[in-house]
Amino acid sequence: MKRNIALVAHDNRKKDLVEWAIHNQDILKDHKIYATGTTGKLISEVLTDVTRLKSGPLGGDQQLGALIAEGNIDFMIFFWDPMTNQPHDVDVKALLRMTVLYNVPTACNRSTADFLITSGLFNDEDYKPIVKDYSVYLNRDVEQE
Ligand code: PGA
Repeated sequence: MKRNIALVAHDNRKKDLVEWAIHNQDILKDHKIYATGTTGKLISEVLTDVTRLKSGPLGGDQQLGALIAEGNIDFMIFFWDPMTNQPHDVDVKALLRMTVLYNVPTACNRSTADFLITSGLFNDEDYKPIVKDYSVYLNRDVEQE
């Protein structure tokens, strides 16, 4: 089963992500990769089916968030940098929020990424992450004049 996998890494963690992708090339080569611009450029040297979005700080994180909201991302591996301020911190937060909102399995470090792609559920077509019922929110009363 072909999965849509989002890959993102901040600059100080790009090397780690590329190493991880090389290590797991045999698994990842069968899936479709979406990546933010610069991460995608590096990952394209290792994997073939890579769609590059804009660079993260230039809107790439938001593009990924939109793909998640539309149900087009199955997994996300996001090696964010815990030691450096990011100019697009709000976008990073928004992207991570989308993964929680839509219950997208997400790994922010290498060991979790390893667990994720070697899980028996990774290729299980019947496993569908349950998305919380937001109907109460959608049908709430909103004051009108
Ligand atoms: P980049 O973006 O892959 O274009 O560097 C990553 C990010 O900072 O979100």
